[in-house]
Amino acid sequence: MSEQTSTKRAGKVYLVGAGPGDPGLITVRGKYLLGKAEVVVYDYLASPKLLKHVPKEAELIYAGKKGGVKHTHTQEEINQMLVDWALSGKTVVRLKGGDPFIFGRGGEEVEELANAGVDFEVVPGVTSATAAATYAGIPITHREYTASVAFITGHEDPTKPGSKIDWAKLATGAGTLVVYMGIKNLPIIVKNLIDNGRDPKTPVAVVRWASTPQQRSVVGTLETIAEIVQGAGIKPPALIIVGEVVTLRDTIDWFEKRPLFGKRIVVTRTREQASELMAGLEESGANCVEFSTIQIEPVESYEVLDEELDRLQEYHWILFTSLNAVNFFFQRLYSMGKDARDMKGPGIAAVGKATADLLMGYGVRADLLPSVFTGEGLAESLLDQGVEGRNILIPRAVKAREILPETLRGAGAQVTVAPVYQNVIPDGKREKLREQLESGDVDMVTFTSSSTVRNFLTMVGAADRAELDVLMRDVTIAAIGPITAKTVTDNGLQVHIQPESYTIPDLTHAIVEFYKAQKAGA
Ligand code: SAH
Repeated sequence: MSEQTSTKRAGKVYLVGAGPGDPGLITVRGKYLLGKAEVVVYDYLASPKLLKHVPKEAELIYAGKKGGVKHTHTQEEINQMLVDWALSGKTVVRLKGGDPFIFGRGGEEVEELANAGVDFEVVPGVTSATAAATYAGIPITHREYTASVAFITGHEDPTKPGSKIDWAKLATGAGTLVVYMGIKNLPIIVKNLIDNGRDPKTPVAVVRWASTPQQRSVVGTLETIAEIVQGAGIKPPALIIVGEVVTLRDTIDWFEKRPLFGKRIVVTRTREQASELMAGLEESGANCVEFSTIQIEPVESYEVLDEELDRLQEYHWILFTSLNAVNFFFQRLYSMGKDARDMKGPGIAAVGKATADLLMGYGVRADLLPSVFTGEGLAESLLDQGVEGRNILIPRAVKAREILPETLRGAGAQVTVAPVYQNVIPDGKREKLREQLESGDVDMVTFTSSSTVRNFLTMVGAADRAELDVLMRDVTIAAIGPITAKTVTDNGLQVHIQPESYTIPDLTHAIVEFYKAQKAGA
């Protein structure tokens, strides 16, 4: 054995700051490293949305750690885990909320790695203190108000002897004070600051879940804030910002002022992508919930297709009417030990350009593309070619419009329909949706096609009209166009928003205008 193969590749641990909550606030390097990770150990405060950057094969480990709740792993276990994975040769990303070296015990984790001789790197992150201030409209420093900031942990009981925090010096020592982990001890913290000489009228802001759609903030003074926070029911994770700069929020609050801030919008989707609509709405501050109303699945039996695959040469045409049909057809073809060469013989027709492009990706060029990209259009183009006595295969969904096979049969063709996939209504999310509707958590539902309306209503599963009315009573409904809107009203519900043109940007714009008008009227 050569020396090279006998030495194991050394692993490495990257301690990466995830940023404060908004997944867009991770660093470019942090995101790059997530994309290379083999193991990711992540915290409660690191946005789970960041995990989409991680390769599918990677091992994901939730390390937990939520103040007051039983820890999923002790700090010792986490340290040991990092060492063990690295020594086994893995590229490990340790993803921590905010900045790893600010009140995150990142220092301890890295000390442990250093002692164990493990290679490591630390990538800073946007810490929640600056993010919370910024997203609450508070510049943490300002020439006219303060030239200094102190970051403090409020986790320590300030009354306990031997506290590491010198409140007497801090109270008046820094212009702006930002306290992490201080909600539980807030009454003692403010008392300490006042007792040590800070003006009781000093403005204070408390910001929870900063930079996320759930952000919530309240403002008061050292004298009043503890009561305000208790009254508002604000729980961790939250930051306490103390200092004159807090008054600037009156002028420059921007995040919470966005037109859709705090609105929970359910974006229903079928096959078409909901991402463009979601991105547009989120840009204006909405809290979007993507709600898939259709799931594409293989069929239970491929008996029909399998038989036809053995005699493809007998066909004159194979018609592909959707992207799913192409994907499922080729999956089955490959699993039978065949490939594109076995499709030599029949002409290949695609319903549209995207379907033709996908076919090309499987090594098959479409011979026929209709001028109008619909089933009717495809039928017409084939009729122009003459189909009498021709054998035609259509791999497609179990349930689909019959217009294409019927038209072709009517013109004397032998048509075989082979079901290769099916659309099913996803079961899993029903309960969650019901719960949210019942608790009045949904402000709006958007519909972009009639099938999203029908499937949504099936999933809501109201026993009758009266129950549906109760569930949907506070929900605003937005429909992309007249056909979708008609399906809504046919089902006994009212459409509140419908753009003039039936496009996603127009729908987004109409929703924003709706809430702007509502705010102006309020
Ligand atoms: N390393 C982290 C801090 C970890 S300590 C950082 O740099 O931000 C945990 C505390 O951070 C919480 O108790 C809370 O005070 C604060 N925190 C973290 N994320 C927060 C957020 N999105 N909004 C408000 N406070 C947050």
